Amino acid sequence: MNEDENVVDPSHPRYESLMLRKKVADAGVKGMLADSAMIAHGRGEAFDYLLGEQTIPSALEATREAAARLTRARRPVLSLNGNAIALAGQDFLTIASQLDCPIEINIFYRTPERMGALLGHLKMLNTKLGLDVEILGGIPDARIPGLEGPRAACQSNGIFEADTILVPLEDGDRCEALVAMGKEVLVIDLNPLSRSSRRGTVGIVDEVTRVTKNLIQLIPQRPEPTEWNNNQALQSALNHITSTMATRFQ
Ligand code: ATP
Repeated sequence: MNEDENVVDPSHPRYESLMLRKKVADAGVKGMLADSAMIAHGRGEAFDYLLGEQTIPSALEATREAAARLTRARRPVLSLNGNAIALAGQDFLTIASQLDCPIEINIFYRTPERMGALLGHLKMLNTKLGLDVEILGGIPDARIPGLEGPRAACQSNGIFEADTILVPLEDGDRCEALVAMGKEVLVIDLNPLSRSSRRGTVGIVDEVTRVTKNLIQLIPQRPEPTEWNNNQALQSALNHITSTMATRFQ
């Protein structure tokens, strides 16, 4: 970053990474995020660094599988937290419009102020894009079984009744609870070792803004679903990291 923390120098070799960090910082200032948001983002950055900040082949396969399952779902829903909205809100609205499905805002540390800020941001982007995507989460009337407190809150016409849910950067407990409800859970998480990656039906080990760009390309192609082996795909991601590390200074 520049001396002025609000300006990122385009000639900086880590420009794109710094721009993503700035998006999270700006969303924090707007009241859209919990205090821990930048820590969660930093954990993702660390894994992205190890992956070479690129979409590795197994991640592209996982993204294709997610596109296949989303296009064939009876009731798909995109479940978005604050970081996902801050980083890729516009692309998620495009994806929801391609799939003709709702977005449900589902945040771990739920406060009326934060929900209001996130709802307002998505509504503003909806208008800007000329879309009419249904945004849920503001009036929860159901609970995800097996979870305590406000993070279990959801909407019956959204997450609760969905058969297939795309969950970027999801908390491991909630991912597990959604799988226990019998749903197909498609996870986006740079950490192949996280509980979300391991518990989900399909784990996409890639940076969320790269995944959304790929999904927008893949969804119109309506790829065929496969017999997905999630452990094998996560192992491929780990192998990529370890083999890159093993040969780094040779
Ligand atoms: P677990 O699933 O093991 O319970 P966690 O809930 O403790 O993990 P968090 O601290 O909530 O994980 O962190 C969020 C997760 O999101 C991390 O695993 C991190 O790698 C991932 N993540 C953060 N930023 C991004 C991003 N931009 N793109 C994809 N994944 C990201």
